[in-house]
Amino acid sequence: MLRQYELVERVLGYDPNADEAALNRAYVYTVQKHGTQTRASGDPYFSHPVEVAGLMTDLQLDQETIMTALLHDTVEDTLATIEDIEANFGPEVAQLVDGVTKLSKIEAMPEDERAAENLRKFLLAMSEDIRVLLVKLADRLHNMRTLHFIKKPEKRQRIARETMDIYAPLAERVGMYEYMREMQALAFEQLEPEAFATITDRLATLRNQDGGQVDAIALAIKQALAEAGLTVEVSGREKHPYSIWKKMAERHVSFEQVTDIMAFRVVCESDADCYRAMGVLHTTWQFLPGRFKDYISTPKTNGYRSLHTSLMYENSMRVEVQIRTREMHQRNEFGLAAHWAYKQGDRPDGQVAWLRDLIEIVDASHDAEELLEHTRLAIYQDRIFAFTPKGALFQLPKGSTPVDFAFAVHTDLGAQTVGAKINGRHMPLRTPLENGDVVEIIKGKNAEPQLNWLSFVVTGKARAAIRRAVRLKQRAEVAEIGRKLFDEIASKVPARIGKKAIREAVKRLEMEEDQDLMFAIGAAKLSDREVMEALVPGCTADIDDDHDWSKRDHAISIRGLTAGVGFTLADCCHPVPGDRIVGLRKKGDGVQVHAIDCLELASGIDSDWLDLSWGKKSQGALGRMRVTIYDRPGTLAEMAGIFAQNVANVKSLEQVQNDAPFASYDIDAEVQDLAHLTRILSALRASDAVAQAERA
Ligand code: MN
Repeated sequence: MLRQYELVERVLGYDPNADEAALNRAYVYTVQKHGTQTRASGDPYFSHPVEVAGLMTDLQLDQETIMTALLHDTVEDTLATIEDIEANFGPEVAQLVDGVTKLSKIEAMPEDERAAENLRKFLLAMSEDIRVLLVKLADRLHNMRTLHFIKKPEKRQRIARETMDIYAPLAERVGMYEYMREMQALAFEQLEPEAFATITDRLATLRNQDGGQVDAIALAIKQALAEAGLTVEVSGREKHPYSIWKKMAERHVSFEQVTDIMAFRVVCESDADCYRAMGVLHTTWQFLPGRFKDYISTPKTNGYRSLHTSLMYENSMRVEVQIRTREMHQRNEFGLAAHWAYKQGDRPDGQVAWLRDLIEIVDASHDAEELLEHTRLAIYQDRIFAFTPKGALFQLPKGSTPVDFAFAVHTDLGAQTVGAKINGRHMPLRTPLENGDVVEIIKGKNAEPQLNWLSFVVTGKARAAIRRAVRLKQRAEVAEIGRKLFDEIASKVPARIGKKAIREAVKRLEMEEDQDLMFAIGAAKLSDREVMEALVPGCTADIDDDHDWSKRDHAISIRGLTAGVGFTLADCCHPVPGDRIVGLRKKGDGVQVHAIDCLELASGIDSDWLDLSWGKKSQGALGRMRVTIYDRPGTLAEMAGIFAQNVANVKSLEQVQNDAPFASYDIDAEVQDLAHLTRILSALRASDAVAQAERA
């Protein structure tokens, strides 16, 4: 394990201005907090964060990253809190440690393939600061290096699988090939122990037979290039068992048929030298057409630059050669991390630099497919990822609320939502979720989607489900009103109306079921006369066409008043004939007539109330309604049309609220009586233009 002074010296080696005291404090803090905790290896736990910090110094990362590596498990595994970290090490380190801690939620995830893809995206989206991701990758690499200490084979398998599916591809995505290869190698050994043993054995046998082939070929390459006047470094290696195994699987071939098991790397001094070196190699040995790739003039999107070619060595052995400059090499093996390494006078500045890197990469890309890859990556910036309490992950557009989340989990859950806890705290349903939030939906037995949710949900799924639920509920209410009206209508026809007669009428009206008929009546889509005709054809022939009540006399009379006493209909509750009413005596103003459930009455005492009722044939009072329509062209006209169809004279209309996508109006309309008012409300509710209609 790295000693405290060794670690600090390493950092000072590439950053003489590093804050030595702060690094020391972070080291001591992690040692103290992890205390006597131990690793599976028996080592003290703090050896792990120290080693991770050591890996970060190999990449020459800034001191905040080194401190983050030291502290990365303190919040997750000890009593330390983010607030402690911030108080001791400042907001930047606290934010980075918080980022790494959130990434650790990954351990609870299910392992199927979709989840793996989801998780890679999650990690990318969460790593708004690339340094968070780098620490997490180093953390995983060190855990893989010490994986063999874990006793339970299932646990080793799970961690290895996760590494293969999630972390190695992520390392590749950000160009950390060195990390990617080592992770794959270690995971492969765990996941396919037999294949690993076989391939390792074969490689050893081959090495014995050839007696140092790798070194011999490296020397030959170096000599050929030296003769052409090129100063280069050449290194060679056997491919790793995992990449040989992958080739065998991809090409369905045996070990013997995998010819290119050796790879060489030529490091040149300039770009021009790279091309010259390639020319020399191609004239010295036969090269394999179609295997040549120029990633210098066309870098990969993650910034990787190199020439790749394959040669036939001594006419029998295929070898891969990569040619690059030293600078490219550094960048290639450690990807964005190399870009992020501490450089005097060029300190990266948080997310801006990370985004700038991404933009550079995208700009440098000429490959449509790779560009697409990166566009996808950019799309994650518009997404958030949130968890259920059990750890299932859901991807949602930015701005999504607990209601969106609930509908994403399941339509039924969305419909039953009454509240939500975000990270354990009760929060309003309109709260926008943030990356990594744990969302617990609180259900209610008889809960139903609320119309006002439409003003804050952002997902199409939630929107559509809320609309559908509200519409269905309104339809049922309208049909219920229609059923009551129907009974009245049915009593006017000269026949007894039973189920059969209703079925016949439904058929005559070319409807599907009696619910449709009740809805049509409730929504005032059918007049009484039309319904009567459908029930008993011809029965209305000698009835006067008197449905336009407004042409008849209408007047209000009240029973229960002393003769000669004047009265007014109260304008707080707007009673209409049919409402149960009471009177309140007003000084010098006669009697005020209120609906019995008017709130104004609460201020009086019972003895002041006059028990009143409507005089026979009373009709024509002002009813007040609050109607909420969808605020879009044509909806106001449609609403007005409903009043006209129902022969209700609108006396005043006032907008009281405009809360996109809704607009609410208070409307006073002259109605015949309560039944008439109810029919109008029911017709309004049935309209697509109307979101809500209530008596005010
Ligand atoms: Mn760790």
